[in-house]
Amino acid sequence: MERTDNDYLLLTPGPLTTSATVREAMLKDWCTWDEDYNTGVVQWIRQRLVTLATGQPGYSAVLIAGSGTASVEAVIGSAIPENGKLLVINNGAYGQRICQIADYLHIPVTELNRGECLPADPQAVADLLGRDKSITHVAMVHCETTTGMLNPLEAVCQVVKQSGRVMIVDAMSSFGGIPLDTGALGIDFLISSANKCIQGVPGFGFIIARQHRLEQCRRQARSLSLDLYDQWQCMEQHHGKWRFTSPTHTVRAFQQALKELEAEGGIAARHQRYTENQRRLVTGMQALGFRTLLPQQWHSPIITSFLSPSAPAYQFRAFYQQLKQRGFVIYPGKVSDADCFRIGNIGEIYPQDIDRLLMAVADSMDWQE
Ligand SMILES: *Cc1c(COP(=O)(O)O)cnc(C)c1O
Repeated sequence: MERTDNDYLLLTPGPLTTSATVREAMLKDWCTWDEDYNTGVVQWIRQRLVTLATGQPGYSAVLIAGSGTASVEAVIGSAIPENGKLLVINNGAYGQRICQIADYLHIPVTELNRGECLPADPQAVADLLGRDKSITHVAMVHCETTTGMLNPLEAVCQVVKQSGRVMIVDAMSSFGGIPLDTGALGIDFLISSANKCIQGVPGFGFIIARQHRLEQCRRQARSLSLDLYDQWQCMEQHHGKWRFTSPTHTVRAFQQALKELEAEGGIAARHQRYTENQRRLVTGMQALGFRTLLPQQWHSPIITSFLSPSAPAYQFRAFYQQLKQRGFVIYPGKVSDADCFRIGNIGEIYPQDIDRLLMAVADSMDWQE
């Protein structure tokens, strides 16, 4: 069989560049009723996810078909009771999306928003939780992929835990790439998806949650297909069975991706690789005259926003095409009030790829001529 290789590396925050072996794992069909799939693949993944997420007991993993947003919507729509109220700590497009989900579902929502270029402020969260006793749940994005901002997870979780509220974390673009212990942090619901730092292909997301919080979701869901409790119960009681058609090939590829994460040395080793990628990227880009949107101390090792060059001849589209011809796909900016582009360094990307990228960037800077 001929192996197809990629024409270019995706320096994007997901879907991202996967290994050939992850892609090859999809070349087999699976029966969703058969134990080879349910026990051998799905249950294996659920157990492994819990182990990766926390050293503490009392957690369980639920898989939900769809893009990552479906898993966020399943949590928001299932975890918050009729008389509940959600606080969203919002500093980017993905925080904004959580507010939008709550609006669609007619869930009362309030937000703390200091703009896209500042990290979450734990003191402001504490103050608001003290003032507004009607807030029952708090949601925050760990790594805001909009800018690359890493929010202060530990400090915010501590405030939320002390106030006795339920903590929901969108760790979509950080889980698997940044070490964290869900249980030690006191997180009730942690959400991520297949096509980010675990380096699988798109098609489903997952939730790692405290079991007693999952129990409380019973009969609260505002959607059938996104009923977190029902999906969890089906997986628990039928050895990993999904209620509806499961993205079998994607799930099998994800199992392979988890094995490759382990072979790399686990989350700590992957974090080190991403951190080295990001450090080389920023140092190299700065040497070429680019500036980052955020100061380095707030950057995640996941993705970096660079300010667009101010030269009149600069055009993102042309720069993008030049880099693509040289084997690299970058990402447009997503910040509302600054002209940026973004470069991700998660996925099957190594420091030597970043070095090659920097040479390609140097060769693509036509606007300077
Ligand atoms: C990727 C991502 C999501 C989910 O996006 P989808 O397009 O639905 O997969 C949510 N939150 C963050 C922070 C993300 O990076």
